[in-house]
Amino acid sequence: AETPAPLSFAESARRIRDNAAVIAGGVNSNFRMNIAPTPLVFERADGPYLFDVDGNRLIDYYLGMGPMILGHRPQGVVDAVSAAMERGILFGGQSDLETEAARLVCEFVPCAERIRFASSGSEADQAAIRLARAATGRRVVLKFEGHYHGWFDNVLWSTAPPPDAAGPADHPVPVSGSRGQLGEAAYGIEVLPWNDLALVEARLAQGDVAAVIMEATMCNAGAIRPADGYLEGVRAACSAAGTVLIFDEVITGFRLGAGGAQGHFGVTPDLATFGKAIANGFPVAAVAGRADILDLVATGGVVHGGTYNAQLLSMAATVATLRALTPDLYAGIERAGARLMEGMRARFEAAGVRAVVTGYPAIFHVAFGLDAPARNYRDLARSDKKAYVAFTTALLERGVRALERGAWFLSSTHDDAVIDATLDAVEDAARVLRARGI
Ligand code: PMP
Repeated sequence: AETPAPLSFAESARRIRDNAAVIAGGVNSNFRMNIAPTPLVFERADGPYLFDVDGNRLIDYYLGMGPMILGHRPQGVVDAVSAAMERGILFGGQSDLETEAARLVCEFVPCAERIRFASSGSEADQAAIRLARAATGRRVVLKFEGHYHGWFDNVLWSTAPPPDAAGPADHPVPVSGSRGQLGEAAYGIEVLPWNDLALVEARLAQGDVAAVIMEATMCNAGAIRPADGYLEGVRAACSAAGTVLIFDEVITGFRLGAGGAQGHFGVTPDLATFGKAIANGFPVAAVAGRADILDLVATGGVVHGGTYNAQLLSMAATVATLRALTPDLYAGIERAGARLMEGMRARFEAAGVRAVVTGYPAIFHVAFGLDAPARNYRDLARSDKKAYVAFTTALLERGVRALERGAWFLSSTHDDAVIDATLDAVEDAARVLRARGI
């Protein structure tokens, strides 16, 4: 077959350069910068597709960095939000929609006895940490290398530590994630490598840890599964030590199934945070969990606020999204994602490219240059990142957009035809990698 010419992104590149005159860095999140060959500018989106200003139609595996579990502009969500818009935008008071949204979350999510809505995952994580400290009267929060819990000062530690700057593997030094972040912001935060139960048990046994916060299966640095028994072990150690276990389900919530990672693994945390897929692209997040902890906002003097919390349009989107999350929908995503993962493995193997494809059909990761799936952040840091960027760049030139860092997200609109077209692009891209000696 003749190879079509690679797509051009010249108009996006021009607009990003122009943007930089008014928008710092040309984009509105650092996680959208430094994307090869250029950050993109879009006209519209529909189902599994994005349409950019160069006239390209791209199959989308970013899905807004995870939220679009139903694909782009699903009719049910569009209709619900349009109907809500007829009623108002922001009441500064309560509505029926937040009651229904809360009931749905509490029905789906094992740990959710109570909930508070917020607007971003970063905020929800702050609320969870504050609640955990208030509930325990303790200071220390344990987090793990490579786990991301938002961009705020107290948690942006060791999200992407260069291994040589991060100290010994079993006793990492917190590594600052940003200039302008005070070293003192790490006060009360301790960092451990993930997936090593003995280290968590030993630290918790000291009896002074307020909370353990983790992505129950790693998604940000790459899709890394918990080792057998790890989540159960951490759960037991937290219970024994009176430590609050927080699962950050901002990515996994409503994606690894309606019950999120906790439903998938059958391990129930004390608190969990949600965002992204909860409202299919509307700015909704939540902290949910044990009633006695959440109710501290009512009886325990814990403050949680937010002008936009439970805003009407966002709640309409939440209700419409959660109602659409049927077992059939997840079964469809599982089928499509499994085909894609298997198909990718087969094509890498046929091309002689050493790659590991790991994770779950709804969210998986591709790494080059590793012999086995990574167990933690430092393992993954040894993968060939340049090869991965070459891979996503080759895919983009063939009409498939996947995150340069992190995971591939699937939606219910990624049907067989979309997966087939993706695999054709993967086959070409694998040949490109092979030709470069990867
Ligand atoms: N936690 C996790 C696990 C995340 O993936 C993210 C966002 N990528 C956040 C928290 C922060 O969410 P937000 O970007 O909505 O503030």
